[in-house]
Amino acid sequence: MKFVADIMVGKLAKYLRMAGYDVKYINNITDEELTRIAKNEKRILLTRDSLLLMKKEFKNEHIKAILIKGDNLIEQLEQVKSELGIRLKPNLVRCLKCNQILTSVDKKEVKDRVPPYVYATQQNFLYCKNCSQYYWRGTHYDNIKDIFQKIREKHN
Ligand SMILES: [Zn+2]
Repeated sequence: MKFVADIMVGKLAKYLRMAGYDVKYINNITDEELTRIAKNEKRILLTRDSLLLMKKEFKNEHIKAILIKGDNLIEQLEQVKSELGIRLKPNLVRCLKCNQILTSVDKKEVKDRVPPYVYATQQNFLYCKNCSQYYWRGTHYDNIKDIFQKIREKHN
């Protein structure tokens, strides 16, 4: 299941990436480009723009889209989860900034590239070859886990 998100749901896009989903998110994208990407790449469009979904391309149902209703992240994640039945579990496989699949790197390689505390306490590191970003399961990861956990509890 792949997505393309409009500019108004950037945070939602990031959290779906945190669950491992492929979410395209481009700044300053036009409605036409969004529509084209959704159609050509068979991505589900996530948007808050009800006018965009009134266009004929969406009405003929060749493009799948979800009109995101809530303002806050939890509501938005709950809506996507309940409409599509997707799993929301932290899954650090994608770059949160650019959507690239991460590759694991040897701990030795990151010695001078991450804070000393992180180096001392973490064993597994991942790297985005597209934007040269390093990732590991830190406190940030625990926060994400809590958010996803809250949503699961509400629905189970
Ligand atoms: Zn990246």
